[in-house]
Amino acid sequence: MKSIKGIMEERLLKKVMQVLKAAGEVAEGMGYSAYLVGGLVRDILLDVENLDVDMTVEGEGIAFAKKLAQRLSGRVKGQTRFGTAIVTFRGGFKVDVATARQEHYERPAALPTVEASSIREDQFRRDFTINAMAIKLNPGEFGKLIDFFGGERDLRRRVVRALHDGSFIDDPTRIFRAVRFSERYQFKIDEWTKDLIKQATNLAMFDKLTIERVRDELVLILSEKNPVRAIKKMAELHELKFIHQGIKLNKQLRKVLGNLEEVLNWFRSSFPKEKCEQWLIYFSALLHGLTLKEARATCQRFHLSRKDEEKVIKSKEGASRKRRELGKEKLSPSQIYHQLEKLPLESLLVVMARADRIVRERISLYLRELRSIRLKVTGDDLKELGLKPGPQFAKLLKKTLIAKLDGSLKTKRDELNYVKMNISKILSKA
Ligand code: ATP
Repeated sequence: MKSIKGIMEERLLKKVMQVLKAAGEVAEGMGYSAYLVGGLVRDILLDVENLDVDMTVEGEGIAFAKKLAQRLSGRVKGQTRFGTAIVTFRGGFKVDVATARQEHYERPAALPTVEASSIREDQFRRDFTINAMAIKLNPGEFGKLIDFFGGERDLRRRVVRALHDGSFIDDPTRIFRAVRFSERYQFKIDEWTKDLIKQATNLAMFDKLTIERVRDELVLILSEKNPVRAIKKMAELHELKFIHQGIKLNKQLRKVLGNLEEVLNWFRSSFPKEKCEQWLIYFSALLHGLTLKEARATCQRFHLSRKDEEKVIKSKEGASRKRRELGKEKLSPSQIYHQLEKLPLESLLVVMARADRIVRERISLYLRELRSIRLKVTGDDLKELGLKPGPQFAKLLKKTLIAKLDGSLKTKRDELNYVKMNISKILSKA
């Protein structure tokens, strides 16, 4: 098998190379073999940046992790009975260590039982040939590419290919992973693998254990750079039904997804420092054809947090109710503010993607200007004017904010004058 040491030296950061070399030496000293495995091997060959270092050791993974940590002044965390551990180094860099093992699936989609075995078995239980290559790290053979299943050839041919007929039955989350990798790298899913996926989608049943892993894979797909392409591929492979039977990639959903891409591009270029959860936005959009009850049940089936569930529901409710309210002919800035202030950012962006021009412009005004307008007068100022803290306080401040949103108050003095003018009115109503 060939050596790719030169390519590694060219493409990996120095600090990564140092850790890999040290790992090989530590393993050699213990009489073990150590390998770099998984996504990083694939990405070295593709010349794509990736900082996730996964290693597999033929031997005692945890003892190896401890020695490696000792040698490089790192720390060992997260040891498991499956022989996995994480070694962390100063500066946040980390290495995942696993013990080479053979897995027997006692029943489809169940947790594998574990027994010590070799690197070939370790690679065979992986999802696709492009993810099933390893690089030996021991000093004499450092850089040797271990490729039992034609991963390198498949990288050259740009295909995602499963390792065996039962792959998607053993682990249905791979149904989604195939889409993720093929869309990320613009690879084709090979025909045999596609057939296996189609067969598995007819059978696939997700139990409690896998539903969370399916959700995690979905989150990853919808977090990729081009989720719309991935969603189209999922539809083609009949995978959307695993989110909910009622999701159809029809003309309307295609349009919303296209609009979402535009809205997100706009948002990112307008607010480069602000973060939004892209996956949640696309997930909400996918549920739009469902009833509120179905959408809620779907969130709960996938064990979304309460907060995320609310974002999904608000973007659904918001899309119809807010579109109506915000579409009215005359709306003042404060009325727009009032409609939108309680919507989370993700929901706002979904509503925007589903709305027509006028509503979009109003949401854009809210995001660009209105949401960051704050009063300069404070509670202390009101106290100085002789007001006692209480419900009037909030009322008065709200009224002042409305006036400010609508443009009639520029300075703090304007605000104070406005407060003074309105104190008596508010007090007389209280
Ligand atoms: P990414 O760049 O998105 O992190 P990755 O290939 O590193 O991609 P991970 O999900 O981090 O993906 O998994 C690391 C490796 O573990 C994969 O490359 C693959 O070899 C293996 N793996 C992960 N999930 C599965 C799975 N469901 N079935 C089989 N092998 C898997």
